[in-house]
Order: sequence, then C-alpha cells, then structure tokens
Amino acid sequence: MAAYEIQTHDYDVVVVGAGGAGLRATLGMAEQGLRTACVTKVFPTRSHTVAAQGGIAASLSNMGPDNWQWHMYDTVKGSDWLGDTDAMEYLAREAPKAVYELEHYGVPFSRTEEGTIYQRPFGGHTTEFGEGPPVQRTCAAADRTGHAILHTLYGQSLKHNAEFFIEYFALDLILTDGRCTGVVCWKLDDGSIHVFNAKTTVLATGGYGRAYFSATSAHTCTGDGGGMVARAGLPLQDMEFVQFHPTGIYGSGCLITEGARGEGGYLTNSEGERFMERYAPTYKDLASRDVVSRCITIEIREGRGVGEDSDHMHLNLMHLPPEALHERLPGISESARIFAGVDVTKDPIPILPTVHYNMGGIPTNYWGEVLNPTQDDPDAVFPGLMAVGEAGCASVHGANRLGSNSLIDLVVFGRAAAIRAGQVVDREGGVPATNQAEVDRALDRFDRFRHADGGTPTADLRDQMQRTMQQDAAVFRTDETLADGVEKMRAIAAKLDDLHVTDRSLIWNSDLMETLELTNLMPNALATIFAAEARKESRGAHAHEDYPERDDANWRKHSLAWVEGNEVKLDYRPVHVDPLTTQDEGGIDMTKIAPKKRVY
Ligand SMILES: Cc1cc2nc3c(=O)[nH]c(=O)nc-3n(C[C@H](O)[C@H](O)[C@H](O)COP(=O)(O)OP(=O)(O)OC[C@H]3O[C@@H](n4cnc5c(N)ncnc54)[C@H](O)[C@@H]3O)c2cc1C
Repeated sequence: MAAYEIQTHDYDVVVVGAGGAGLRATLGMAEQGLRTACVTKVFPTRSHTVAAQGGIAASLSNMGPDNWQWHMYDTVKGSDWLGDTDAMEYLAREAPKAVYELEHYGVPFSRTEEGTIYQRPFGGHTTEFGEGPPVQRTCAAADRTGHAILHTLYGQSLKHNAEFFIEYFALDLILTDGRCTGVVCWKLDDGSIHVFNAKTTVLATGGYGRAYFSATSAHTCTGDGGGMVARAGLPLQDMEFVQFHPTGIYGSGCLITEGARGEGGYLTNSEGERFMERYAPTYKDLASRDVVSRCITIEIREGRGVGEDSDHMHLNLMHLPPEALHERLPGISESARIFAGVDVTKDPIPILPTVHYNMGGIPTNYWGEVLNPTQDDPDAVFPGLMAVGEAGCASVHGANRLGSNSLIDLVVFGRAAAIRAGQVVDREGGVPATNQAEVDRALDRFDRFRHADGGTPTADLRDQMQRTMQQDAAVFRTDETLADGVEKMRAIAAKLDDLHVTDRSLIWNSDLMETLELTNLMPNALATIFAAEARKESRGAHAHEDYPERDDANWRKHSLAWVEGNEVKLDYRPVHVDPLTTQDEGGIDMTKIAPKKRVY
C-alpha cells in the first residue's frame, strides 16, 4: 500500500453529509454544545436538497382546517401500511414545530394575505382521514423550498460553531468492538487522508437515485452511506421501494414539482383526455405518486402516449394565470424552457415518470439510531451510529413517500438525532482512540481502486448497472424481469474486480471518486433488485404484475438485505404497528389507520 499522509481529528459527533438532514443534525448537535464536525463531499449548499422545489408538509392549518392526525393518516396510507406507526406519529406530531423552527431560523417562506406561511395542496394529502377534500398542507418558498431551507440551516450551523470539512469524501466507517467509532475520509483538493474519531457518527449521505439511468437526483446521489453500512456488515431495509416521480421532463429527467399539479396543472394523453379522472375519481391528478406513475405507464402501453413515439405524456399549465406561474412556479417555468424548449404559458410540458426517491435505506428507530436487527431483537441498536434523511429508513415512508414528506423527514429526524445524541453521548468520556487496523483496512481498499488496472472503465460498468436497473426494476415488475435483473446485476457487480482507473493521482481525481461512488451504488442496487425479486406482492411503489394485490398476511414486513460481494442475504423484521400514544393519551384512533384497500 502507498504511504498516505494521515491527519487525525477528535469530536463528540461527526456528521457525514450537509444536505437538509445533515445540516439539521449538525445544527442541533452544536446547539447543545457537542463538539461537532460535518464532513461533506460537496459544498453544503450544493447538496441535492437544494433542488427540492414543492415544499415541506406540516399541518399548520393556515389555509383551511388540518391536524396532525390527518397528516399521520395520509402518511400511513401513502406508505401502503409498511411504515412504522411510532415513527409516522412522531413525524406528523413534530412537523409543525419543526417548520416554525425553520421560520424562526430565517427560511423565507411564501406568505398568505394574512402574512402566515403559504401552503399548497400535494398528492395524497387530504382531510377527514381521506374522506374530505385535498388539504393545503405543503409549506412553500415559491418553488425553491429546499434552496431556502439549506441556505438557512448552513448559516445557523456556522453561527453555532459547527466545524465544516468541505470536499472531504468519506471512505469507510471505523468499527471497534461492535460500535462505530468514526470515519475515514479523503480530502479531495490535496489528497490527504483524515481520520475522524467520534463518540457518535451520523450518516446523512442522501439517496442512491443514480443507480438508475434516468433520475431527478443529482449526480452526487450515489448511496455512499448505504455502501459504507453494507461493507460494515449491517443490513439495508426496504430497498425494493423506489419512487418514480410522475413528472420528470421527457429526455432530461429534470423534475417538474408536484406543486405544478397542486397549483392546478393537469395531465393529458394523446387524445387530450384528463385520464387521471378515470383512475382516481376523487383526487385525480393529486393521487399519490406511485398511483399517477402507474397510470401514465398504462396509458403509454395502451397506445395513448404523446409525441412521435407515443412514449410520454403532457402536463398542462397553460390555463393558469401568468402571475400565478411567475409567483408560485418560477423555477419550473425556467426548467421547462431550458430542458424542453417549452413556454409553459403556451404549451404543455412533455413528461415521463422518472426515478426520484428511495424509500428504503439504513434502518433506524425514530431517534435516528441505526439498527442491527437480530432474530431475538429486531430493534437492536448498533451503538455509535445514526442515519438520517434519505439515507435512512425510520421508516415513515414505507412503500411509498408522499410529496413534501421528505423535507419534513429531514428536519424532524435530523433534530431527533440531535436530541438523542444530547442524551446518550458521554460528554465527560474520552473520544475513542484511532483504530489503526480499521484505518489500514479502509486505505487498503482505497488503494486497490486507485491502482485498479482491469479491463472495464468505470463509466461502462456504471452504464450497465443503470440500464439494467431502469429496465428490470421499473414502475411495473414481473417475476421474469426481476429474475433476469438479479442475474444480470450479479454479473455486473462481479466486474467491480475488473475496473480500470486511469488517473492515479490523489488531487481532484474525479475518475477515482466516481469509481468509489460506483462501488457504493452497487450494493444499493443489488439490495434493491434482490429484495424486489423476493417480494411476492404489490405494495406502494413495488407494483408486481404477477402478484397484483397487497398481501398483508405474508408481506406486511420490512425487508432486510445484507450485501456481500455480488450476493445478497435477505431476512425480514416486523412493522411497528403500535403508535407512541394511545387514543386516551391524545393519540390517534387506531381504527382510523387499520389497513384497508388503498384508493384515491
Ligand atoms: C429534484 C428534486 C426535488 C425534490 N423536491 C422535494 C420537495 O419539494 N419536497 C420534499 O419533501 N422532497 C423533495 N425531494 C426529496 C428531497 O429533496 C430529498 O429526499 C432530500 O433533500 C435528501 O436530503 P438529504 O439531507 O438526505 O441528502 P442530500 O441533500 O442528498 O445531501 C447528501 C449530503 O451527503 C454528502 N455526502 C454523500 N456522500 C458522501 C461521502 N461519501 N462523503 C462525504 N459526504 C458525502 C453530500 O455532500 C451532501 O452534503 C426532491 C428531490 C429531488 C431530487
């Protein structure tokens, strides 16, 4: 192994990731006086959260009656009864508090006439436990909500003296005697190696949308946290549930927010028909995302797609007043112009369902503590390690996430992780000593890829993985496509041993960084397709044509996937069906959230 220059840092907490989740956790930790480092491979305000458009869900009741029980019900139903009830209660209850906190930190929310936070309707968000009309629950800063939140949280974190390590790439976790004691990083601009020893490590590394060919997520969304966790011998949870957003711009995959439909936009097919009225008579274009994506796919299959190849759909905004478009949806008007050459005041936007969000991830409890489930204790905590945001799986989104429920997940659980760390981190105790054997192991691996001299360029292998996932773990799945996908992915993952890296340097080596990212995407992709192949039912985003019904008796359980090389071992853990509080204690009426058929 080459000799590396190594620097060591000691902290109470190291947070990996500076998106909405990482920054909210960092801020909360620093606020409590914990010595906190935040490590990030991109500048904090360039994290994918910056691209979030539509908004953040909380039952503020600014634009009509609402309450946390209705929000919880919608989340339970949205999850297709796979979410953990305690976590979903925590999310819905804490959401208003978390949004007011953001407001006080300085997030410039759009305003109502009365000066309160503006809220728009979003898919699957309803009143009266799904019996009433859609609710305006999604708090928005025009269509740049993520941008506003991220900049505010970064400023607040700096104010509380959190220390940032920017453009540091986390390579691997350090495990010592059954707990996590830190992380090894590579500093991208000078090639030095940094060991962060910490009492608690928080993974906030975002999703793995880039395992697919067409995704709305940034090129940085490569599931690095999931990769590190898989290499640490810990499982990933519910990875078969991948959300396709109904309205990615045809061709580029760039997102058009669901807020566009929230503001009155609607979908049409080649016959100019508003087809969603046929599939979801009550909520129409505002049915939940998995439902709308499937309807679009069916319309295209049945020959009613638009365009030369009849392979996409139209999103119409032309009927909306230009002032409303200018004030509420300026960002997407610009995206449509740049990426589809469309003036939204005159023409429809060509759209297609595009990979958008990973419901699965690193299993945690609702405090963000990472789980290492065993047969005896499916909720066993792995000490010293937390996961929040899209990298984690608490699980509040279950089999399908509602729009605007991710931004709220970031801040509610980022904050929860900080509260928990404040309770469990021993402030007086020493920081764990450097575990040299673990550092050497991480550097051996790093060195191996740095000098990889096989026959397969990284870009080629990534392309093979992305196309296979796109084709075989798609909106609709069958036994045949999934079995085929598993075989193909086994062979593709085996080629990681044959990679070829051209640039051997250590400074701004994007070839090596993309290679390491590919080695992280791969275990995420493997877990996704193996778990999908095993799940013989349809639930939420997992639409299995050979098993079109949800099967609660056999499959209301979380999948766990341990990835080793190109093999995946699967097991399951029970869904938490009990809420945090009983109805007598002011909690939800359990009969309201009992499983039933999910229709919109
Ligand atoms: C286009 C788009 C629009 C969206 N709109 C909405 C919306 O309106 N409402 C909503 O609720 N949700 C929305 N979502 C979903 C939501 O934005 C994301 O789920 C969420 O922002 C993820 O945040 P995060 O903090 O978990 O991760 P990210 O914001 O992706 O941040 C990940 C962080 O981890 C760091 N990182 C990753 N790997 C490493 C490594 N190896 N070493 C060091 N650092 C690392 C990165 O530098 C980055 O700082 C949208 C998503 C997309 C893609």
